[in-house]
This record gives sequence, C-alpha cells and structure tokens, in this order.
Amino acid sequence: MPEKALKTLEENLARVRERIRAAARAAGRVPDDIHLLAASKGAPPAAVRQAADAGQRLFGESYLQEALGKRAALHGMEGLEWHFIGPVQRNKTRDIAAHFHWLHSLDRAVIAERLAQQRGALPPLNVLIQVNISREPSKSGLRADDMMPLADRIIQLPSLCLRGLMALPAPDPRRSAAEFAAMYALFHALQNRYPGQKIDTLSMGMSDDLEAAIMAGATLIRVGTAIFGPRAHPRSATDARPAGEKDVQ
Ligand SMILES: *Cc1c(COP(=O)(O)O)cnc(C)c1O
Repeated sequence: MPEKALKTLEENLARVRERIRAAARAAGRVPDDIHLLAASKGAPPAAVRQAADAGQRLFGESYLQEALGKRAALHGMEGLEWHFIGPVQRNKTRDIAAHFHWLHSLDRAVIAERLAQQRGALPPLNVLIQVNISREPSKSGLRADDMMPLADRIIQLPSLCLRGLMALPAPDPRRSAAEFAAMYALFHALQNRYPGQKIDTLSMGMSDDLEAAIMAGATLIRVGTAIFGPRAHPRSATDARPAGEKDVQ
C-alpha cells in the first residue's frame, strides 16, 4: 500500500477510538467495555496488517472466500481474533467452524447444529444470534420472537458458546434509535434467562451510527469505512445472498 494510505489508516483508527471514548463518556459508560471490531471486508491483507500493527486485534469478514484468502496471506500473524459477520449458507459452515473465533450472524438452528458438529476439538465457537430488528426483507437475521427458541437450542450444543446478539438496524436514524433500544431489551432478557452463561456481547453500531449504538448499550461495534475508507466495490452490509455464494444443501 502507498505510504499515505497507511498513515491515513492509522489516523482513521485513532479517530474511531476517540469517537468510542467520547460516546462512552457521554453515555456514562467505561470506554474499555466497548470493543472495536474492524470490518475488513474489501480491505487488502496489507491494510489488515497495518491496522494490527496499530493495535487493532478484532477483525470481521463477510465473505468466506475473501476471508480465507486473507487469512492465508496473513499467515503467521499471531493474536488476531477473526469474526464472521456475513450471512451463512449451509455449505459455508465447515470453513467457518474451522477458521473463525466468532460468528455474529447465526439465525437458524440447522446452521447451529452443523457448526457444533463441525467444530470438532477446537475451543467452542463464540456465537451471536442475529436479529432482523428492522424487519427488512432483504436482511438476514430472525424475528425478535424467534430469538429465545434459537438461544434455547444453542445452549444445548457444547461446541458453541452463546455470547449474545447482533443487529443491523435501519440506516435511518429516526428508526434506528428505537431499534437499538429494542435490541438492548432483548439482550437483557437473554441475560436474565441464562444468568450462569457469559452473555456479554451486544454487537451493533457501524461507521455512521456507532455513537447511537453505544448510547443504547452496544458492547461491540463493527466499523469498516471509517477505518479502511470507502470499499472499492461497495456491497451492502445487508446483502442476504452475496453473488456467487449459494446455499448448497
Ligand atoms: C461491512 C459491515 C459493517 C461495517 O460497515 P461500515 O458502514 O463500513 O462501518 C458492519 N457490519 C456488517 C455486518 C458489515 O457487513
């Protein structure tokens, strides 16, 4: 990468961290309770390396083939934590189970069961249930009413560790505030149902709305463009079925 782009990336990361600190202060929260996930889809391995050198540890990928290629290119970089945040088709579960530490987009029992079976001897896969809180038909995630039955199933699977919930609220700030609040209520209900479990993660908030998410109780925000710049081939964060990734049974 050109020198200038790398410098900008460091500055971007510093700015995002400052936004997190300011939003946490405004919300009366401890900044360290809010984790930053760098959504690195579309970013080249060199950009991931640069972010890691600047102290970024959590990375999120949305497309499996891109993610696996990037992991191979970064072979030998220790200590990074990889989160899969894109829609999951059945034929992707084996690679997700083998190569990721977290999955944010679990929304079907059949996917949970396959992942649990395929995880093998690795430490449990941390999972979040994705709730389609804005009820947009184009989005992945289940309806709020279906969250608890899926949680009850995941809890029975020893190779999965249920850590909380994820959502992509509507981009419209007039709607998203209520949706963030609804997610917090669901998260709280999940914690109350399983007090003995480490249900500690509410994944919501992106480049444009991280302050509102932190105000509403997010514990992990997923930030792409504010760190890596605009994506070369912008694909919506909400594509239910990325081109070329079909659900093979
Ligand atoms: C790309 C992506 C993000 C980051 O979005 P930005 O607007 O670029 O910050 C967050 N979450 C998911 C699921 C994504 O796919």
